[in-house]
Parts: sequence; C-alpha cells; structure tokens
Amino acid sequence: MTIDAARSADPPERLPAHDVRLRLEHERDSRLSQLSAVEEAADQASADLLAVQTDSARRVLAEIDLALARLENGTYGVCEGCGSAIPAERLEILPYASRCVGCQQRSA
Ligand SMILES: [Zn+2]
Repeated sequence: MTIDAARSADPPERLPAHDVRLRLEHERDSRLSQLSAVEEAADQASADLLAVQTDSARRVLAEIDLALARLENGTYGVCEGCGSAIPAERLEILPYASRCVGCQQRSA
C-alpha cells in the first residue's frame, strides 16, 4: 500500500478518499478482530454458530476489499445496480455499500 495508490480515487463530495479509506480500514480491522475472536472461541461455540459468524465476517471482508478496490479505480459510491450515486448518508452508515437502498432491496 503506497501513497501513489490513492492518486485517481475520487469519491463523492463530502467523502474524501482519505476518510473513506480510514473508515473502510477500520471496518476491516474490526471484522478481522471479530474473525480471530470467533476462531479463538471455536472450541466453545457450536459448529453451526461458528460457521454463521465466520461466514458473515468473511462476506463483509470481501465487500470491504471490493469497496477499497472501487476507491482505487474511481467507481466508489456508484450503485452497481442502477449506476446512480449512492447517497453519502448511506455510505456514512455502510461505507462498503455497493448498491443504493432501492437496488439493495430489489436484490434481497
Ligand atoms: Zn441503485
């Protein structure tokens, strides 16, 4: 990870790439902590619960990595469903969101 990697990322107004990156990295760190905590508790948790939790953490991690990639290639904040801008309010709540609320609900 170098400074140069941030060159062309240009997220929507009010969401400077630097802030978004910090937020995504924070989210990633919490999921990684969650993952290792869950894995450490493996001998206590039931196999099913463990699977659900690791699954969920891994899925979010994948979404976070995709969001970081979108930040790099300049498509961060663009809905993958309809191509319109995802509202900043939504990105503030869910910085790795790849779809607007409408498209998310339609795909759910
Ligand atoms: Zn959409």
